[in-house]
Amino acid sequence: MCGIPYHAAETYIGRLIAKGYKVVICEQTEDPATAKGLVKRDVTRIITPGTVIGNIVPSETKNNYLCAVNIYGGRIGLAFADISTGDLSATMLEGEGCIEKLLNELGKYQPSEIIMNINRYDLPKLSMFLSERLPDTFVTDKIDSLFREENLIPIKDSIDPEVYRKLTDNKETAAAVGALTEYISDTQKTELTYIKSLNFYVDGQFMEIDVNTRRNLELTETMRSRDKRGSLLNILDKTKTSMGARLLRKWLEAPLVNVNRINRRLSAVEELYSDMLLRGELGELLKGIYDLERLTSRVSYGTANARDLRSISLTLAKLPDIKRMLEGSKSEILSSIHSSLDELPDIYSLINNAICDEPPFSVREGGFIRKGFSAEVDTLAEIMDNGGEYIKSIEKRERERTGIPKLKIGYNRVFGYYIEISKSYTEQAPEDYIRRQTLTNGERYITEELKDLESKILGASDKRNALEYEIFSGICDEISKTENVRRIQQTAADLSALDVLISLADVAQKNGYVRPEVDLGEEISIKEGRHPVVERMSADGYFVANDTLLDTEHNRMLIITGPNMAGKSTFMRQVALITVMAQMGSFVPAEEARIGVCDKIFTRVGASDDLAAGQSTFMLEMTEVAYILKNATRRSLIIYDEIGRGTSTFDGMSIACAVLEYTAGKKIGAKTLFATHYHELTDLEGKVDGVKNYYISAKKKDNDIIFLRKIVRGAADDSYGIEVAGLAGVPKEVIRRAKKELARLLEENSRPKEIRQKEENENISLEDIAKEDVISKIKNLDIDSLTPLEAMKCLYELKGML
Ligand code: ADP
Ligand code: MG
Repeated sequence: MCGIPYHAAETYIGRLIAKGYKVVICEQTEDPATAKGLVKRDVTRIITPGTVIGNIVPSETKNNYLCAVNIYGGRIGLAFADISTGDLSATMLEGEGCIEKLLNELGKYQPSEIIMNINRYDLPKLSMFLSERLPDTFVTDKIDSLFREENLIPIKDSIDPEVYRKLTDNKETAAAVGALTEYISDTQKTELTYIKSLNFYVDGQFMEIDVNTRRNLELTETMRSRDKRGSLLNILDKTKTSMGARLLRKWLEAPLVNVNRINRRLSAVEELYSDMLLRGELGELLKGIYDLERLTSRVSYGTANARDLRSISLTLAKLPDIKRMLEGSKSEILSSIHSSLDELPDIYSLINNAICDEPPFSVREGGFIRKGFSAEVDTLAEIMDNGGEYIKSIEKRERERTGIPKLKIGYNRVFGYYIEISKSYTEQAPEDYIRRQTLTNGERYITEELKDLESKILGASDKRNALEYEIFSGICDEISKTENVRRIQQTAADLSALDVLISLADVAQKNGYVRPEVDLGEEISIKEGRHPVVERMSADGYFVANDTLLDTEHNRMLIITGPNMAGKSTFMRQVALITVMAQMGSFVPAEEARIGVCDKIFTRVGASDDLAAGQSTFMLEMTEVAYILKNATRRSLIIYDEIGRGTSTFDGMSIACAVLEYTAGKKIGAKTLFATHYHELTDLEGKVDGVKNYYISAKKKDNDIIFLRKIVRGAADDSYGIEVAGLAGVPKEVIRRAKKELARLLEENSRPKEIRQKEENENISLEDIAKEDVISKIKNLDIDSLTPLEAMKCLYELKGML
């Protein structure tokens, strides 16, 4: 327990929360001046990592989620809330693999706090996931008493009735939302007017991206350093407001599958893309927009100050211009923002008339009400100002009267106004001075006159402070009215969307993207596609574009070979990223792109490439492969990057081969990119339907290797491993020796094609060989020319062979 100056509280609380503590705030709940006996104190708020608001929210550009997990009888009700923005969403997970689905959702939202109805250790998978992937998340388990549907009631009115009905049809989810509601009211101790209408989503509304894929594709952070720099988000985010930054992240984390919705976004981006002037001017206006969502939530939760109100009014001041600029927009989204944007003129004038231009930090010490707003405040302020003048004139008069040139009138909280005389002059102090305090180099006095004046001035000051605070609270109450909160939230949503669309258009223009054609077809066809991140990272801007054709017929599975460092992983990721971008409504880095909507994207990165996980065991790799094989559909896009490396060559190759056949087969038939160093797998083209070989070209030059980075049809003939080793600086001697050894091995291997075959055959059991012999003997029999006796003899022979 500790006491800290109230104005510094946020900083301390922020530090404690970041360390994973909960902070309980106790305050005096009555006025100490009028209280009898002990001043009453009470818990006024509990702050936990998932319920922070104001300046201590960890990131402006990222939502801060509190999550409730309700696991009951094979069903999982799941709910997320960000109380600093009012976002509330929930879903229901059920059926086989619902734990994996839970992990995927947690990976998507990355909540900073989770409350659960059971003990996490009862679910080892979840418990492991939490400690490995969400180590900083604050988990409170086994508080099942919160998980009750009745707890929903306080927010019932803010939920759309249709959604509410759906929610209560899913008891487990309703109880999870109930738990969130109860937990938030418990900690915030205020009404929950700031919660937006619930977003109840179901499976299949968004592209499914599992946790590993999310990590592998580095959508919002890099795999190794978990840094935003180097992620796709960093490339796409040129938003000008924190609200826009949060929304862009959401769009990227949850790409759409509904073609109409995708195209609606694309059309808006296109309109802004082609109207540079409009885009530029709107962008300028957006630069002056503050975080309306979080500011308003502070007002609602009673933690705002006058500066926050001022930021809101400055924001609202931009709205009429923004609305005007959107006049005549053609795309559906922009024109609907234009027609529905609420400029909130009443709220603007409410704040702007009352709050001055540069209000102080504290709302308890007055001085923030605009002159002319309240006659009473103005009068009191005048008394205070005049009092100051009057004090000055007394000082001057007393100097003259006493003949002490350095006589001073000062003020402090303990003694109020006083007259100070330095030591050498104290003898000259007049009779009517009453001594109050002795200093090392002087004395302080009061007089009747000063005391009178003081009580007038201080009285005015106290009155003004109280009055200003009252006006301030009134404005906050007005803003916090449910219907006003709704209106502000809607305007905030419009502004965020506009910001995101402009950002996407800006980036498209700057990086040379095109509008993808997104449809329900089953093809992914990309002309001159580029990797959005790698192309921006290369210092000289050098990037080789490549084409891609994937469908669910003859180009279902592309097997990609090529030397290490050729660009296989880059190429495959680029296809996945272009698909994600298209489905979130962004233009894509290509000359042309047609994207048949994908329901899910999977990536499996082989053990060798996946160092970041720290424990990339073969077992882990296979768990992920199993997950893909169980969940992929014909509409999915799968990326296998060198699977089967974590075990012995033959094991690995056999597994790779079987996985490939199964994925390409009837049961799944998903669009697949398969990079492998097992050149043997390229034999499958022609044998397995839909398989096409490609390799990324490189050529040897003298003892060097030149990467051409171009993808071409066919199988690579050489893996150039030794050249790559040379390039990496392995000593010349070692390289020379490796070359010799390679030559020897090649020679040994070229001779024995048949011998090797025979060796392989030796692994087959004798019975198998016998069976084959029997079959071939039967096949070669000319039954028509056999006599009955010969037939009989043959039967005996056959039996003898087995
Ligand atoms: P592989 O998976 O074949 O070993 P990577 O995809 O990891 O190779 O690529 C190695 C490096 O080559 C990348 O880090 C990137 O810098 C560069 N690179 C890959 N593809 C291209 C390309 N198309 N154009 C330019 N540079 C590329
Ligand atoms: Mg690779």
